[in-house]
Amino acid sequence: MRDIAVVGSLNVDVSVRVPRFVRPGETLRASGLEVGAGGKGLNQAIAAARLGGRVRMIGRVGADPFAGIALAALRAAGVDPTYVEVLPAERTGVALITVDEATGQNQIAVAGGANKAVRPEHVRDALAAFRASGVLLVQLELPPETVDAALELARASHVRTVLDPAPVRELTDATLAKIDVLTPNETEAEALAGMPVHDVESAAAAAAALQARTRGDVVVTLGAGGCVWAHATGFEHVPAPPVRALDTTGAGDAFNGALAVALARGEPLSRALREAVRAGAAATLRHGAAAAMPTLADVLALPEVR
Ligand code: ADP
Repeated sequence: MRDIAVVGSLNVDVSVRVPRFVRPGETLRASGLEVGAGGKGLNQAIAAARLGGRVRMIGRVGADPFAGIALAALRAAGVDPTYVEVLPAERTGVALITVDEATGQNQIAVAGGANKAVRPEHVRDALAAFRASGVLLVQLELPPETVDAALELARASHVRTVLDPAPVRELTDATLAKIDVLTPNETEAEALAGMPVHDVESAAAAAAALQARTRGDVVVTLGAGGCVWAHATGFEHVPAPPVRALDTTGAGDAFNGALAVALARGEPLSRALREAVRAGAAATLRHGAAAAMPTLADVLALPEVR
């Protein structure tokens, strides 16, 4: 089993429930205040650690009490936070979430804070973490040049790179060429490939178009539809185990965390994806993001995907 490096964001999610969304200038009574750790990087690091991965997180928090919430969540899950340092002039990233009680829809405003100030040199300072790892997991909540630096350092250290292109932004061919496994969801695949994605066939077409640019593996996740994997010589559809989904927030994070663990264990991608779809499905059975990341027992409780 190789180690896993996660280069990504750490946030604190502050969420409340409202009877309806607040209008401009209005004040509404809310209920159900929750404060918890979040951010795609932190969520994926926690998912990987809960599933048995040896994980080091690389990122930055601010000089405020929120930093302690994010770091405590990492430690509780067994993630090594050695390379998560405090930037004295920044605030910890925060997501303000309101959930409409009637519809379950949400509105989210994110202040990136210290995540926006993670520099390529911060990543390079973690060279020892890269050298010790078999897999790098990275998302797009850090600046583009920092993501590129992580991919480059991984390549130079013979570390397999997995990039979850969320939140989606345009990626240059130079960046795409450094990605071994690209894992967009439907909307991200649509944006990156510039073609509609709504079913297995259209996902396969978009995955193939992206595969031609990365020359690695491309996996488009399809929610309850599982995922479609495009590789150099064809594609495969991996269905998700059927579940009664409660809250799909964080499904993609669980999927990526589980994928990293299976790859770190040396599984071939076809088997790794069968574990990832189970972890994604398991995450939909609990509310929240970091808190909903499944344990090994949660995943094993679901049927195996053939
Ligand atoms: P994201 O959360 O990034 O939008 P998806 O919604 O595609 O990603 O979910 C990622 C993975 O989680 C899917 O590939 C699937 O394995 C699992 N998943 C998500 N929603 C469901 C669901 N309703 N039923 C079963 N599995 C699901």
